[in-house]
Amino acid sequence: MSPITGRTKICGIIGDPIEHSMSPAMHNAAFSALGLDYTYLPFRVRREELPGAIAGVRALNIVGLNVTIPHKVAVMPLLDRLEPLAEKMGAVNTIVNEDGVLTGSNTDAPGFLQALRSQNIEPEGKKIVILGAGGAAKGIAFILAEAGASLVILNRTISKAEELAAQMARYYHQDLKAMTLSEENLTSALDRADVLVNATSVGMVPDVDRTPVPSRLLNPKLAVCDIVYNPLETRLLREAKAAGARTIDGLDMLVWQGALAFKQWTGREAPFAIMKQAAVKALKNED
Ligand code: NAP
Repeated sequence: MSPITGRTKICGIIGDPIEHSMSPAMHNAAFSALGLDYTYLPFRVRREELPGAIAGVRALNIVGLNVTIPHKVAVMPLLDRLEPLAEKMGAVNTIVNEDGVLTGSNTDAPGFLQALRSQNIEPEGKKIVILGAGGAAKGIAFILAEAGASLVILNRTISKAEELAAQMARYYHQDLKAMTLSEENLTSALDRADVLVNATSVGMVPDVDRTPVPSRLLNPKLAVCDIVYNPLETRLLREAKAAGARTIDGLDMLVWQGALAFKQWTGREAPFAIMKQAAVKALKNED
């Protein structure tokens, strides 16, 4: 890493908690690989300190910021401009500071789309089953609908899936269904699906023996994405592979969201492989 000087540009991430974030490792590895005079720092910011932290971005001329839980929604009214997709989704994870003008965007969901496309899966016209209706599922549902997929959203709490489908129906006119996450509904939804996305936290450490989908419902015609990245190979992905399905793990989405933010801050294409390698290393250090 090059030494920090008076000219070094500062980026960072705000959230609470923040100590397990892999973003500092990914971005600092990328700056270093491209010889850019940037550095990336983690900032733990409590809910009540968010307005002060955003004022600080302007005051300290921090050039780029990632925003994570619990601030992705609360940060929106504190910014000067919002990219249309972030506004539609109602969540911001990236801020660019141009001479004190702060623009919020969302690279989480575009990162997911990029991860799909990098495996040559184009959502247009596809039937996609999304499990979950939380923060991550919402962004993924919007980006997939934007790309022209028809969707079935299954969630344990049906009211949240219905609310999401209703919100999306204001913008998109293809098939958008909401259902309770049950074995019966999974059976009918997966029978006709091209892609399955797990956007629940089921299967994440420490509950690594859990899976949201019984293995008998997986088949070789499906592409299965699990956005859980710890562990890297979830039980769902392991069983999908065994059933002959194509699989996409959660780390690619995480690295792509970082790569898209990196491009906004630096104007340079991110070195994806280097960022992924740094993320894998950081993930191993967590275990
Ligand atoms: P969230 O807003 O808290 O939503 C959690 C979702 O999981 C909800 O739909 C919830 O259903 C469902 N869920 C939780 N426990 C469940 C259970 N036992 N059975 C069935 N459903 C259950 O969380 P989030 O921010 O969306 O994150 C979800 C997961 O995605 C986390 O594991 C997170 O680490 C991962 N993630 C990955 C990336 C990436 O870049 N790869 C990015 C963001 C998030 P209810 O509505 O019924 O509670």
